[in-house]
Amino acid sequence: MKIFKGSAIFSGIAIGRILYYHRESSQVRQCFAGNVKKELADFEKAQQKVAEELQVLYGEESNIKRRQTALLEKGSFVRAVKSMIETEKVSAAYAVATTRDELSQTFRNLEEPAVKERIEDVRELSERLIAVLGGLSTTIFLGEKPVIFVAETLSPGEILEMEKEKLLAVVTRQGSEISHASIMAKTIGIPALVDVEIEEDWDGLLAVVDGYTGTLYLEPDGELLKEYEKRLKAEQEEKEELLKLKNKEAVTLDGHRISLYANIANLDDLNSVLFYGAEGIGLLRSEFQYLGRENYPRENELFRAYKKVAETMGERLAVIRTVDLGADKQAAYMDIPEEENPIMGNRGIRLCLDRKRMFKAQLRAIYRASAYGNLAVMYPMISSLEELDEIERITEQVKAGLREKGIAYKDIPVSVMIETPAAVMMSREIAQRVDFLSLGTNDLAQYTLAMDRQNPLLKEKYNDHNPAILKMIQMVIEEAHEEKKKVFICGELAADTDLTEIFLRMGVDGLSVVPACILPVRKAVRKSRREKK
Ligand code: PEP
Ligand code: MG
Repeated sequence: MKIFKGSAIFSGIAIGRILYYHRESSQVRQCFAGNVKKELADFEKAQQKVAEELQVLYGEESNIKRRQTALLEKGSFVRAVKSMIETEKVSAAYAVATTRDELSQTFRNLEEPAVKERIEDVRELSERLIAVLGGLSTTIFLGEKPVIFVAETLSPGEILEMEKEKLLAVVTRQGSEISHASIMAKTIGIPALVDVEIEEDWDGLLAVVDGYTGTLYLEPDGELLKEYEKRLKAEQEEKEELLKLKNKEAVTLDGHRISLYANIANLDDLNSVLFYGAEGIGLLRSEFQYLGRENYPRENELFRAYKKVAETMGERLAVIRTVDLGADKQAAYMDIPEEENPIMGNRGIRLCLDRKRMFKAQLRAIYRASAYGNLAVMYPMISSLEELDEIERITEQVKAGLREKGIAYKDIPVSVMIETPAAVMMSREIAQRVDFLSLGTNDLAQYTLAMDRQNPLLKEKYNDHNPAILKMIQMVIEEAHEEKKKVFICGELAADTDLTEIFLRMGVDGLSVVPACILPVRKAVRKSRREKK
């Protein structure tokens, strides 16, 4: 038996034979172009064909599709391919393969997640372009029996084109937690490891993948195998039990019902919101529309995304949070001046109120999309009533503009994130002005403890169960209830099942968690009592 350590991307256990995947199309023979103009024209046709494929594969609003289409249409990758065809007079397929390899080579040691993501985009696009130009297929056949899929890298497109029921686990050498493939693996819910020193001759060998510890056991010995078989059985039974809760209500043992919503950070998560039976979206973090790009998103692009959310959710509530940029969420095109202490800096609503054009475009998009479903709008990082005054003024202008143009919209519910101590202290007054409150416990904890939530030095000291935080949550719920307004929790604490009963006893009206945590939290609610016996 050999043991290999990697990083766990998604938990779970898998036992099975390895399928080592060779990406056949990665070698394209050097071939000189007889006719440069024809190669350029073929390349342009291939660009168009691949753009259509992406549309079919990922859908119009998908984040991956948007990024890859942008790469395909303009930017350094396409320029490099064209310039190679022109100057070196090589075939389009060869220029694509070489540009891909050069880019991967140049950036292979960079750990930056955004760079890794871009390299994966380039890799997937290149495979598709080469397939179109050279007639090679991108479909992967997994064989008869389910396998542990091992590869150097994997693109989300490749995962999409496999038969998912034949996939037991995914193990790659390259990839990152936020890489597309990892996101896909999370969505399918199979164990996934990256950073594993994989070897080609593993093909066909028996292995155990432990997605809890990030370990791969190659040719496991009898005892270990038996132990993992037992654990796998227990895990499957637990999953089946949990899945039975898909369409059940979140009701406590003593008959109190609470709402369970999902937090999502891109449109690819919409399906899992429905799959796990969430009541709706309690927090749509809209930052994905602003980050990883070269310019502000246009109103229409924002609108199309919100319309898709509204239509997909139908009558279910979908709370769109206006963009919370600044601090750790920066985009170069925004030119945010350097700050000494960005966590305390010009972020969230403060930045939006400074950049009214950007803010108004987002509000217009949200209100336009409101006509297509059951949307609500939510504002992050509020710390004063004056901010609410200004938001109300701007919203009125936006609505007036829509009316003038005869564009339909609804007067949707308005909500505020309670994530600064100031908002906690003013929660009664805020509740008088909005339709519901949502506690952002991630930021509330860091501002209450005066500890940066991302500072690794404070990892041991950072206690988000500190009674000061719990008292604040209790206070907000009481103050809002005095005003007959509901309170949700949408920070990570909402998924902490050790606190579920405590929150219920405080009287919280709803919890909003990532899709994969909906069933575990629903289970915790159903095991809790709201009233003390
Ligand atoms: C929070 O602060 O709890 C929250 C939900 O917002 P984010 O994590 O996006 O800052
Ligand atoms: Mg926050």
